[in-house]
Amino acid sequence: MNPFRSAALRMTFWYLAIVVAVSTSSSVAIYHFSSNDLRRGVQRQIEFYSQVLSPEESRAYSRLRLAQLETDQQHLRDRLLLFNLLVLAGGGIASYGLARKTMRPLEDALEAQTRFTGDASHELRTPLSVMQTEIEVALRDRNLSVKNARELLKSNLEEVGRLKSLAEGLLALAQQTTDKKYHQSAPASEVISQALQRVQKQASRKKITIKTSSSKINYRGNQQSLADMVVLLLDNAIKYSPGGSAVNIETGSKDRRGFIKITDHGQGIAGEDLPRIFERFYRADPSRSKSKVEGYGLGLAIAKKIVDLHHGSIEVHSSPGKGSTFTVYLPRA
Ligand code: ADP
Repeated sequence: MNPFRSAALRMTFWYLAIVVAVSTSSSVAIYHFSSNDLRRGVQRQIEFYSQVLSPEESRAYSRLRLAQLETDQQHLRDRLLLFNLLVLAGGGIASYGLARKTMRPLEDALEAQTRFTGDASHELRTPLSVMQTEIEVALRDRNLSVKNARELLKSNLEEVGRLKSLAEGLLALAQQTTDKKYHQSAPASEVISQALQRVQKQASRKKITIKTSSSKINYRGNQQSLADMVVLLLDNAIKYSPGGSAVNIETGSKDRRGFIKITDHGQGIAGEDLPRIFERFYRADPSRSKSKVEGYGLGLAIAKKIVDLHHGSIEVHSSPGKGSTFTVYLPRA
């Protein structure tokens, strides 16, 4: 059985045991006090009538009232029993619902983690398999020349590079947790200049100019994480744009929220890919674009996680062949 289901059943049992214990003990107390009150009332009536009636009539009256008392007590017991059965049934259903509700976030977290491990292992296997095949083929070749051995090492080194960037991406994803300080004041100008420094080399290699128009606003968040997120978006803007093109960064505020808008004039994103680009390991089909760009489909997943941790939102508008605009909305400090 699913461990969460059996844990939910155990919790139901304990919730129910508490509910039943409370309801039974209060029913016993109610029965005890009510039945004593009834008995005292009947006794007072019998005493009163024994003074006004003949002994014969008084005995008959007393028998009648005691029989009525017995019936009333029986009715009280029946009602309390019915009440307890209803509490048991209602309490059972409510307890199970509550136990499942308590378990659901844990179940979802475990499922997400299992899926993550599965996806990550799948991605790690590809470069490892390539290396294994190349090494096996080379080892079987008795006359392996130095030139071929060097080529093999070069190709292996490329795969190691891919593995390293995949591991870094996975680590970056895992490091985005709620335990950082997300309530600081992060000036837009600082976030952007920190990010620009880190992508400058890559941009100048492709002769891409990055134009910024910053406004004097402060976001509420973690400056370092926000700069990481901007780097990821700029990295894509550079990667998926032709050499010599321009990338624009605009910061400002709209409807009391701050925004960061990054526009490129690159290959754009096809409509069918747009809903999925923020998923982990999702990459648009390379056959739809002319150029093959290295990557693992982790950048936007990390950027989205950072935005979510800041209680912000991210939007993308894109026209294939013309370019893309990513807009991140953030709370203001
Ligand atoms: P990666 O770039 O490593 O593939 P990302 O998660 O950063 O992973 O991006 C996911 C996909 O979204 C990319 O494979 C690419 O197809 C598309 N994409 C992201 N940013 C852009 C962009 N600025 N221009 C065109 N396509 C983009």
